[in-house]
Amino acid sequence: MASNNIVVLGAGVIGLTTAMLLSRDPENKVTVAAKHMPGDYDIEYTSPWAGANYLPVGQEDNKIGQWEKLTWPHLQELAKNCPEAGIHFQDTLVYNRKKDQESTTGKWFAELIKPNPWYGKVVPNYRELPQSELSPGVDNANSFTSVCINTALYLPWLVGQCRQNGVIFKRAIVKHISEAANLHHSGSKADVVVNCTGLSSRSLGGVMDTTLLPARGQIILVRNDPGVMASISGTDDGDDEATYIMTRAVGGGTILGGSYQKNNWDPNPDPNLAVRIMKRCIELCPSLVGEGQGIEGLSIIRHGVGLRPLRESGPRIERERSDDFWIVHNYGHAGYGYQTSYGSAEDAVGLVKQALQQAKKAKL
Ligand code: FAD
Repeated sequence: MASNNIVVLGAGVIGLTTAMLLSRDPENKVTVAAKHMPGDYDIEYTSPWAGANYLPVGQEDNKIGQWEKLTWPHLQELAKNCPEAGIHFQDTLVYNRKKDQESTTGKWFAELIKPNPWYGKVVPNYRELPQSELSPGVDNANSFTSVCINTALYLPWLVGQCRQNGVIFKRAIVKHISEAANLHHSGSKADVVVNCTGLSSRSLGGVMDTTLLPARGQIILVRNDPGVMASISGTDDGDDEATYIMTRAVGGGTILGGSYQKNNWDPNPDPNLAVRIMKRCIELCPSLVGEGQGIEGLSIIRHGVGLRPLRESGPRIERERSDDFWIVHNYGHAGYGYQTSYGSAEDAVGLVKQALQQAKKAKL
């Protein structure tokens, strides 16, 4: 049987999902090579820091919205029927204040907080809250059933799925994308390299995408469980600060967020921002702590910072010819890498197939 030598560069949620889908075709022989692997916590490795939940931010008719629509059934199926993946259903509340419309956070959440959004027909139990249920200052709100992913379980689960299909994993740091073509476990040159290096595509030789920028997200992981996920369109503390709460599956703790600080590379948690986040989360969702308690009622597991790989023009999913191999790019998923993971990986797999066909034609 003919075999296709494929190297996936990167082992974040994007690389692992793409490798898993590619490995379902027995003709594909896949190597995943990466500087960081599940289990690592590093500022250059975004995926472990994510909440991660499903709060759509794409428009119905753009790629992001389409990928979100395509990804929901996969996450739903895992939450229903695959307990070992570390994904569970969570009731979700989304609040909107019209005054946040022009802020960085308000723009990021624009689709999420719209009345009658497209995703109301995708997720279960969507409903708009009546005026009588809104707290002062909130203009509209909705609730639905979402999922929350325990990234500490889900990323290793993806590795396990890949391993079952014969994918080989190796640590490597490449300076130039062309080096990745020499990392296939067969020892032969890869036919295709899939570039899933996230924010590092900004500095990776042969890619150097300067349209990528970090959107810094600061979080606090706590043991408290408020029993519901909640988010709001903005804050009174700063244009690029955010407030959201999500409880991870299987004892993964609750993530309190956050921020969306563009062009901020600081890897260290800012203690003042951390206090503001904790205070806001308790205000939004008092059931986080005991009655009458403030932030002293939170049991902190860790503070963290992740850098979302933001491309204002949207992720880059493209095929490109290098000297003697093909490159398929799949990077730049900003704050929606989990909720678009299956949709964008399916597009990348389609481009790999096209590249392999071209490569075969060229050999004839
Ligand atoms: P990464 O996870 O950064 O992986 C990149 C991989 O490439 C790593 O393995 C790295 O080692 C490797 N690599 C890079 N350069 C090289 C090199 N030169 N040589 C070898 N290997 C290399 N998304 C959601 O959908 N829902 C959420 O609720 C959510 N919440 C978030 C909250 C926070 C605080 C943050 C920071 C992000 C959140 N996100 C969320 C976004 C999501 O985490 C990202 O979109 C996603 O993790 C990007 O994944 P990636 O695989 O592209 O990149």
